[in-house]
Amino acid sequence: MRIENLRSETNGNLSKVAATVIWEDSDRLTQEIYFQTTEPFANDLSCNPHAFLIACIMPAMRQGEARVSINAPICPDLHNGLITAMSWIRQWYKPERQLVQIEAKVLATPKPRTAERAGFFFSGGIDSLTTLRANRLDFLLEHPRSIKDGLLIHGLEVEDSQLFEQIVGSMLNIAQDAGVTLIPVYTNIRQLNPDWEFWGKEFQGSVLAAVAHVFAQRLSLVTIPSSFDIFNLYPYGSHPLLDPNYSSSDLQIRHDSILLSRLNKTKLVADWDVALQNLRVCNKTRFIQSGWLNCGQCEKCLRTMTALLALGVLDKTRAFPQDNVSEALLVAKSYIKNPPYAESCYRELIAPLAAQGRHDLVRAIKWIITRYHLVEGLKQMDRTLLNGNIHNLYKVAQDKTKQSDSKLSA
Ligand SMILES: [Zn+2]
Repeated sequence: MRIENLRSETNGNLSKVAATVIWEDSDRLTQEIYFQTTEPFANDLSCNPHAFLIACIMPAMRQGEARVSINAPICPDLHNGLITAMSWIRQWYKPERQLVQIEAKVLATPKPRTAERAGFFFSGGIDSLTTLRANRLDFLLEHPRSIKDGLLIHGLEVEDSQLFEQIVGSMLNIAQDAGVTLIPVYTNIRQLNPDWEFWGKEFQGSVLAAVAHVFAQRLSLVTIPSSFDIFNLYPYGSHPLLDPNYSSSDLQIRHDSILLSRLNKTKLVADWDVALQNLRVCNKTRFIQSGWLNCGQCEKCLRTMTALLALGVLDKTRAFPQDNVSEALLVAKSYIKNPPYAESCYRELIAPLAAQGRHDLVRAIKWIITRYHLVEGLKQMDRTLLNGNIHNLYKVAQDKTKQSDSKLSA
């Protein structure tokens, strides 16, 4: 892979930095990748080769590219960090995978961090707001570690422009209350490999870090909010062993709040009213009704709403279309996708829900956990005793359903 033609442009009222990505060993077409921001932050955006190199490294390894070449100087910390990050991914998933050779001039005298300024990724979800809240509780505003800027990104989970502008409006309420400057960023990096499984398992920490690096003139420290707690940690694309490797001598990347469970994070956020009113957890953007930030029907919405019920505050927030969750809806829409973390998120709700008298939801959660283990047991039995024949029959039935659905819609 070659990263070429690094350039700065203006696109209407947006400032843009872009590069051309040329795939060499896979049959992918040449791509233009970019980062944009609005006019007030134009002078903070730089065409930083670090950003493009970080953005490309994991997609290049995934597609079997032998090298990533960029004709620009890079920091030795980042050079070593990228090799370490690739090594973690290889160690976790496929030890036979080849590391990508980084072909770039490594600087002997990289830029030191100058003016200290801290930022974070401001998605408006529980993880993100926990980072901001904990930072406000831990540091005085004038301290260099006190978060001053929040980066809100269009083009990752949210690609709908109208919804993004609505999210910006809601996040501005929180930003104003916390004394944080909200910086909107528009990028198409995810198009280097749009597969969601790749995003989750390998890509997301590097994408966030790449966005941070185009603001290295403004920021010296950027925090990536943790996805999981340390007690239920497993290999993932944003991870405390991975994310700090995307640092350079002039910009440190942190991964934080790993000591807090999902319920403890939710409690921290729920105790801050502006955050509770503007909370945004939903990634099922096509199901979100106009004027709302959350659909109130997907697994993540329902899990969060149930946690807020367990804390006795769901009826105090305007963030969801409903102020209650029924046993039937929770059983129908909830599932455990990422064990052991997801199971722990449900299991820790049982005691506080019982304390709230919501024995219907306790029953629902116990069934969701039991159902998960029953299905996993059946899958294991199918694999070991039946050579996966039940799974194969299920796949055939699923493919036939898809075919008949596409014929009906044609
Ligand atoms: Zn939702």
